[in-house]
Amino acid sequence: MAPSAAATALTSIDHWISGTRTAGTSERTAPVYDPATGQQTGEVALASKVEVDDAVKTAVAAAQSWRHTSLSKRAAVLFAFRELLHARTDELAALVTAEHGKVLADAAGEIARGLENVEFATGMPQLLKGGFSEQASTGVDVYSIRQPLGVVAGITPFNFPVMVPLWMCANAIACGNTFILKPSEKDPSAALFLARLWQEAGLPDGAFTVIQGDKEAVDAILEHDDIAAVSFVGSTPIAKYIYERGTAAGKRVQALGGAKNHALVLPDADLGMAADAIVSAAYGAAGERCMALSVAVAVGDVGDDLITAVSERLEKLTIGAGADAGTDMGPLITREHRDKVAGYIEAGADAGATVVVDGRAQLVPQDGFFLGTTLLDQVTPDMTVYTDEIFGPVLSVVRVETFDEGLALINANPYANGTAIFTRDGGAARRFQNEIEVGMVGINVPIPVPVAYYSFGGWKDSLFGDTHMYGPEGINFYTRGKVVTQRWPDPATSSVDLGFPRTR
Ligand code: NAD
Repeated sequence: MAPSAAATALTSIDHWISGTRTAGTSERTAPVYDPATGQQTGEVALASKVEVDDAVKTAVAAAQSWRHTSLSKRAAVLFAFRELLHARTDELAALVTAEHGKVLADAAGEIARGLENVEFATGMPQLLKGGFSEQASTGVDVYSIRQPLGVVAGITPFNFPVMVPLWMCANAIACGNTFILKPSEKDPSAALFLARLWQEAGLPDGAFTVIQGDKEAVDAILEHDDIAAVSFVGSTPIAKYIYERGTAAGKRVQALGGAKNHALVLPDADLGMAADAIVSAAYGAAGERCMALSVAVAVGDVGDDLITAVSERLEKLTIGAGADAGTDMGPLITREHRDKVAGYIEAGADAGATVVVDGRAQLVPQDGFFLGTTLLDQVTPDMTVYTDEIFGPVLSVVRVETFDEGLALINANPYANGTAIFTRDGGAARRFQNEIEVGMVGINVPIPVPVAYYSFGGWKDSLFGDTHMYGPEGINFYTRGKVVTQRWPDPATSSVDLGFPRTR
């Protein structure tokens, strides 16, 4: 059958192995869509074990020389990459919007937050400094060094196709490793854009590789003996799977999972500020953020005023294509996901929640994967809208009588990625940050994604592994420590001693 006009216009999205694009041999592909139009725009290659093996071979070869490249030369590559990424932010943001759907400003925002990780990694000469103890024992010095692991892999989600890969690859490469990225098959083009920038920045071929694919590629990565570590960001069931399989295969693994982030709103909060923050964090990127606030816990009598303040703000939001000026919220990633989110709204209503604002009833563009904003009141912890990560533009309000009840509710949730408290009471905020069992806490700050010189990670079902991502914990993750005890021939201290060496 002759290909249709639409099919011939599809962009082929390949792998990036050894510094060049390659389609691979698997002949498996997946469609890539523009979520704002609902049209297929590309076709992404899906790797099999063969492509993964090829990629690892080149990454192993590159790792031999990259780890011996001096810190100052590595830092120079990082600085050049930083400049290129900064200069080409608009172009990359447009690519993200075209495949993910988020508004351009939001796409530029994720690039800016990713860039911070590159800037952090330019400081690697300082960050990799070890300790040195002169004369730890008489005539003996002890010092520590950190060395790269070799080939490391990153498996990333659709919702941050630039920032999350940069959380991983900037530090991994700066530490002297070579890096294989397996991006989401839903918006795979940004990974190739990053690959070209790394090459332009002077990174040797094979030091940054892109393997496009799905579970088959992921399993080949998890099984490969020459991959020393895997960083994963995505949903909780897959994070658990990656952690269990990767560690069983002897790899170092950090696997960040899903979230159900609560905002605790106290009666003394600045309600205007809280409502602005909650609306921004609940509906930004159409709720497709792991740090989205999806539950507002209203304490005491603040509930009615909060519902009014949020509803007023929702009326003013413009929903449309992310590339259109003036759009506040774009579409969801796929038609199936949009329908799944709409199904949650129905389930919430059926279970007794009050649908204050109904995203299904709003006028939104019909062609793409759009859904309006939804606000649910009187949500209770047994409802699926509360128990499940919806990952869409739906905010649930749960009402509680006291601060303690709110604290207990949040601590009982199996997810523990981020949370925020809105209050003017310093004592309450301090108790919250101390007693809340969540990895990242905001105090009047709705999306407390740590800056690049701290580390990012949740607790409980939001993270499998011991190490949080990027920042100082990222450096630890991508290096192995070694301690050297040295002594040099010194006629003044030399003698035969068969006893166990003791410090002297
Ligand atoms: P996902 O788990 O479906 O996919 C993530 C990655 O895993 C992709 O590269 C995908 O190809 C791969 N994958 C999917 N199914 C697989 C399988 N069965 N076996 C092996 N690999 C598989 O997640 P997503 O839908 O792309 O992203 C959204 C999820 O990611 C949400 O749950 C969100 O909370 C989470 N997320 C978490 C963080 C965080 O820092 N904790 C950040 C961003 C996103």
